[in-house]
Formats: sequence, structure tokens, C-alpha cells
Amino acid sequence: MLELVDVRSGYDSEEVLHGLSFSVPPGSVVAVVGSNGAGKTTTLKVISGLLGCHHGHVSVDGRRLSGSSTGEAVRAGVAHVPEGRQVFSNMTVRENLVLGAYAARRVSITSRLDAVIDVFPELVPRLGNYAGSLSGGQQQMLVIGRGLMSEPNYLLLDEPSLGLAPLVTKRIFEVVARLRREGKGVLLVEQNGRQALALAQQAFLLERGTITLTGSGEELLADPGVVERYLGVGTSKGSLDRQQDWTAALAGALVDDQAPEPANRRAIRK
Ligand code: ATP
Repeated sequence: MLELVDVRSGYDSEEVLHGLSFSVPPGSVVAVVGSNGAGKTTTLKVISGLLGCHHGHVSVDGRRLSGSSTGEAVRAGVAHVPEGRQVFSNMTVRENLVLGAYAARRVSITSRLDAVIDVFPELVPRLGNYAGSLSGGQQQMLVIGRGLMSEPNYLLLDEPSLGLAPLVTKRIFEVVARLRREGKGVLLVEQNGRQALALAQQAFLLERGTITLTGSGEELLADPGVVERYLGVGTSKGSLDRQQDWTAALAGALVDDQAPEPANRRAIRK
């Protein structure tokens, strides 16, 4: 179990996380939703040791981390896949993957490479290519694969589908589901909140560094407040009307250049 107990943390004098407590059991996906600046990335940084906590602690499978280094978290079985697909562009795909095993507990690089390739066979024909030459989707597979090279029990995924085409996004979510089935605990921060919640056994809403709502993914998906404010599409009567209005306009545009203008266009654009 990955556990945060009353964690307070932040940058310089500004506290961003105000006493977070939650856990990620093995074999489960825990999703975090919340608006920009709520502290989602900061939470992941604290777990992986990129940022210390000034109160509370993080523990992994009963072992308390000192929070002093990222190597400590990796050796405890935590892999952090940061936002933004940070590959080493001038290194090959294979070299990028091998780097992922560097700080890990003793792992056999060959068997880990085989395991990662089993998850992402798409990378096989690219192993000798420079990582910078990959598409965005392939780079995302590479950074997740790099995280898996340390043979983690827990994976922290920060916005893994950001900017990806729907088909690639679907593929990434399939992999998340597979990793969960294989027994890994996945902490998932996602702008695609709907898909993340649909996959999540547990979820919570983070607002200004505080957890304000917890439940199963399904429960949060069924919460009109969460949907309205954090999942991008409203469920209020007015919002539904606006969506239908746009849907009609778009459908019309496909068959007729003279598609009707939505009546409340200005409101929609806000
Ligand atoms: P986003 O989706 O926009 O990244 P988030 O929920 O992940 O949002 P964080 O990136 O954790 O939010 O940021 C939480 C708060 O911490 C914000 O107010 C942000 O400005 C601040 N912050 C983040 N990184 C730093 C930093 N390196 N130095 C100072 N403040 C920071």
C-alpha cells in the first residue's frame, strides 16, 4: 500500500498541500481530479521525493520514506512518470528505457526490457531510433515504459493523455487497466477526467491542496458538481441545452454549409 498521512508541503514559504491523507492499494487505480493549480502535480512530486514534506509522511508497503531523494522512492517500488513526455531526445529509445532501471533495486535489464516491450510492442521497431524522432504517442509510451523499467509496484502518472489523439489515449488507458490487473497500484492525474474516473476504483477531488470529496470513480462521475466543474461538460439543464444546440449545429454543418447558428453562442464561448 502506498500511503500519504497528513502531508503538508509546498514551495518556499507557500504551503500548497494542506494535510493530505489517502492511499493507493496494490491492484487499483486511484484518480485525482481538480482544477489547475490544485496541487495534483505537487502531490506526485512529494511521493517521488522530488519535494519534501514539512509535516506528515509518505510510506510504501509499511516503510516510511524520508523524502530526501527520488532514488529512495524508486527503490521502494515507486515510479513517477511526469507530465510533458520528458524523453532524452538525443538518446535512442533503448537507451531511454535502460535509464529507467538505473536507480532501481537490482533488476535484470534484459528481462525488464522484454517485459516493457510486451506492454508496448509499438516500441520494438523504434528501439534504435532517437527518442526525439518519435510521435507524441510513442513518446508517452516510452516514458511510461521507462517508468516500468524499475519494476515498480506503484506508478504515478501525471496527465498521460495530454495532447494525444483519441486512439492513442485509448491505448494508454488500456495499458493502465492492464497494469492494474497485473497488481500495480496506479495514481492517475488526468485532464481526461471522465476516462480516468471510469477506470478508477478510488478517486478524490483536490481543491486548493485539500481533499474535498472521495469515493469510487463511479461515484464521482455521478456527482453533478464534479462533472459540472471539473470534467469539462456540464449536466445542468442549461448546459445540456447548449450541448444539444452545438450538436445540432455541427451535425448541420456536416451536410449543409448553412448550418444554424446556436442561439446562445456567446454563452458557450465563455
Ligand atoms: P496543473 O494541472 O496546472 O499542473 P496542479 O493541480 O498539478 O495543476 P501544481 O502544479 O501542483 O497544480 O501546483 C500547485 C500550486 O503550486 C500552484 O499554485 C502553482 O503555482 C504552485 N507551484 C507549482 N510548482 C511550483 C514551483 N516549482 N515553485 C513555486 N510554486 C509552484
